[in-house]
Amino acid sequence: MKAIYAFEDADSKNRALLGGKGAGLSEMTKLKLPVPPGFTITTEVCNEYYENKKQLPKNLMSQVIKNISKIEKKTGKKWNSSNNPLLVSVRSGAAISMPGMMDTILNLGLNDQTVLGLAKMTGNPRFAWDSYRRFIQLFGKVVFGVNDEKFDSVLKASKKKQGVTDDSKLNVDSLKKIVVKYKKICENQTKRKFPTNPNEQIQLAIDAVFRSWMGERAVVYREKNNITRDIASGTAVNCQTMVFGNMGNDSATGVVFTRNGHNGIKEIEGEYLVNAQGEDVVAGVRTGKDISKLQKEMPKSYKELFTTCKKLEKHFREPQDIEFTTEQGKFYILQTRTAKMSAFALIKTSVDMVKEKLIDKNRALTRIPAQQLEALLHKTIDYSKTKDFRQLAKGIAASPGAASGIAVFDVKRAIAMGENNTKVILIRIETKPEDVPAFFSSEGILTSLGGKSSHAAIVSRGMGKPCIVGCSELKVDYDKRKFNANGTTILEGDTITIDGSTGIVYAGIVPTVAPQVTKDFETILTWAQKAKRLGIRANADTPDAAKLARKYGAEGIGLCRTERMFNANDRLSIFVDMIMAKTKNQRKIILKKLGLLQKSDFVKILKAMEGYKVTIRLLDPPLNEFLPNPEELLDKIYKNKSGEKLSDTKKVLERAKELAEVNPMMGHRGVRLGITYPEIYEMQIKAVFEATAELVKKKVDAKPQIMIPQISSISELNHIKKIYDVIRSEMEKKHKVRLEINFGTMLEVVRACLTSDQLVKTAEFFSFGTNDLTQAVFSFSREDAESKFLPEYMEKDLLETSPFQSIDENGVGDLMKIAISQGRKHKKDLEIGICGEHGGDPNSIKFCHSVNISYVSASPHRIPIAIVAAAQAAINQKSVRSK
Ligand code: ADP
Ligand code: MG
Ligand code: MG
Repeated sequence: MKAIYAFEDADSKNRALLGGKGAGLSEMTKLKLPVPPGFTITTEVCNEYYENKKQLPKNLMSQVIKNISKIEKKTGKKWNSSNNPLLVSVRSGAAISMPGMMDTILNLGLNDQTVLGLAKMTGNPRFAWDSYRRFIQLFGKVVFGVNDEKFDSVLKASKKKQGVTDDSKLNVDSLKKIVVKYKKICENQTKRKFPTNPNEQIQLAIDAVFRSWMGERAVVYREKNNITRDIASGTAVNCQTMVFGNMGNDSATGVVFTRNGHNGIKEIEGEYLVNAQGEDVVAGVRTGKDISKLQKEMPKSYKELFTTCKKLEKHFREPQDIEFTTEQGKFYILQTRTAKMSAFALIKTSVDMVKEKLIDKNRALTRIPAQQLEALLHKTIDYSKTKDFRQLAKGIAASPGAASGIAVFDVKRAIAMGENNTKVILIRIETKPEDVPAFFSSEGILTSLGGKSSHAAIVSRGMGKPCIVGCSELKVDYDKRKFNANGTTILEGDTITIDGSTGIVYAGIVPTVAPQVTKDFETILTWAQKAKRLGIRANADTPDAAKLARKYGAEGIGLCRTERMFNANDRLSIFVDMIMAKTKNQRKIILKKLGLLQKSDFVKILKAMEGYKVTIRLLDPPLNEFLPNPEELLDKIYKNKSGEKLSDTKKVLERAKELAEVNPMMGHRGVRLGITYPEIYEMQIKAVFEATAELVKKKVDAKPQIMIPQISSISELNHIKKIYDVIRSEMEKKHKVRLEINFGTMLEVVRACLTSDQLVKTAEFFSFGTNDLTQAVFSFSREDAESKFLPEYMEKDLLETSPFQSIDENGVGDLMKIAISQGRKHKKDLEIGICGEHGGDPNSIKFCHSVNISYVSASPHRIPIAIVAAAQAAINQKSVRSK
């Protein structure tokens, strides 16, 4: 095991061993770019250091010295010499970039003798002493842990004494005095003399870099960003010959992107400083100048920068984020890495680089993190403006996008104001289906209770409305129409902004950025459509959602939840009447009205999706979900100040108590409702047939399919199939046409998956309801899991990601595989889809591709993500196979 590699000797593809910075420096050295010579101490040495109780390996220093001599030969400079001294930087660098993990030490090798050599060699004593004081400051801070403020106050005092405001105006005398004081500060801290021997300096610096790997900053950063040991284990140390951007007005240092990171435009973007060292730009000590000015100020350096950028892009086939320094007109490059770009810029650069023949379409598609595209489809907060607004509270980001409006705490008022075109944010402790009419008229929804799968969260996502749930810092008071959050009170009528992408609630109206579906985005989607195998359908319950989904490229509807239609303002009361009906006959009369409404909805949705399949799921949730919360009703009765007749409220309370469910996931819902209240399913099936008949007569290519939820056995499925058959022949007779409406089942109960070989005999298609299936396989009720213990499971590494976010491939996935293979054994071409939240998750999509699912169904706003993720799955699988 070699501990140290010179840049020119390293295997620059091995980022795990060399760290990202080391690998980049090595790669650029091999490309013959002007990289100051140096070497990398590997991450393995870092790990050895920790195994060895934080001791550097015994023979390490002798190898460091050997490598220093190599640099001496290359540069003609001498280590610890008072003639032409070699100085180095000591830089950390893990496999992936961890900004701010530790500070780089510059100008290492300086002491009271070598500083004179540097002054003599450059004929610039001011520069030499300035470098020296910078070295002591950085070394003191990084190695000895001296508080920066101590150095800063000395610097401030000196400037004041000399009567200057700018660091660069300090004269040699002042700098010499500063050096003495700086050393004193270090010596006070360590109770030892400041190390003068460069060998000792570098040893202490290497030790400090390794120590910083387990420093609090680094540990927290890794935790927050999910950087596990297999992603980055240990840091490398890079020691590199110093070049000086602070050697006068013909020297400079800068940081640039090879293309604009915000809008993707092909232009060098960034800043530089004349007569400064790299730290000054990064730390923002002085404000940098726009890089475009360099073209006038130092044309030769700009030209070199330009050709270097081009060369790097051509080589890495990615826009780069680079650091450079010009020393007395000579250009050097000090770092390169893939530029982190906005979703907008990623799209633009992908399309541009294909045009420039820099990359092919497959690479253009796979380089875009699909998840990031979400930001382009919603109005988002203008994050540059958030500092001007008070942050009130933070909850769970449940549905992305930003919304502003006035706070409203009551459903009826929200509807009234919304219909008046007032922008409102609906604030509730939690929501129920009876609140949904207010969702339509609100810009966004904010609840103090509930998790990612709470009613508010799911309905909002389906509608594409921004939503924050579980915002427990809000103390909502319905009676006084206000909430209190961390000391601030917001009354009904006050303006607030919610950011459903981060979960943050702001006071006032924060400016937003409009969604950006550009020509380039459409180009990417077209390429992705061609590259993918998986079908992409939408979860859509309204004609508007269907149209939107189609615009984004959906090829049908994989899940149309019929119960959502009962939530609209004009329906809910009828649906509640139906639930309240005392007899079957009474219920049938009300169902007739509902049937007409459902039919007209189906007509519109089927028409919007003409030519594509629309899977209509019959009623699924338990009926109590449509009634108000019993506690609220009790409250009403108790306070008795509502205008309603008390006896009515009492009746609703009785019924709500009757229907109350302990665990709504496993109770009286889905097909079980269809069996005990067949008239409901009859009404729905009839409505689908009526709608189809009407469209067929108008020569509209409608393709509905009827899907039964919560099936656990073939006898349940057959029971409903009989009802379907009777209605079908009735309808065909009545309308004198053949009506092709597939009859299929959801697979969301474990038993259904295990007996899919039986179900397939009746079902014409399968659709996995992966949400419920995940709950069933884990025996986790999602709400309880997400609000009570899942976060801790992930913290304690018992689960890597939430199984509700990405399909659990081992458990749920294996069950799916069984169901798929049994189903396809009987019907080779059986259509098998998934609906539910996982349909929009790139990891789950990758899994679905690999197990030959026919299509995934996702909410309209996730369709573009799903299309790109499906293309990436197809491209990556092909490239794995061809290897
Ligand atoms: P970070 O990872 O925090 O960016 P770096 O190791 O890249 O830290 O260094 C910080 C700054 O110091 C950068 O501007 C870099 O260009 C500059 N720098 C690092 N090594 C040298 C060197 N050998 N000569 C000149 N400047 C350097
Ligand atoms: Mg850097
Ligand atoms: Mg379900």
